Amino acid sequence: MNVSNLKARSIGRLLLEKAALKEVCACRYYELADDLEITSSVELANIINGNYDCALCGRKGA
Ligand SMILES: [Zn+2]
Repeated sequence: MNVSNLKARSIGRLLLEKAALKEVCACRYYELADDLEITSSVELANIINGNYDCALCGRKGA
């Protein structure tokens, strides 16, 4: 992560990322953490709402 990237990420976006990491199931946590910056805000919102699938634990989105 470079400095310009950091500045481009708004506080709202950072809160979204933080909330998604808190809500995502344990098996996808590290995957999400690694890809956090390239994960779309819509995708993050879906994770926060529990609306996502996980092949590892068989979780199905709403
Ligand atoms: Zn899972």
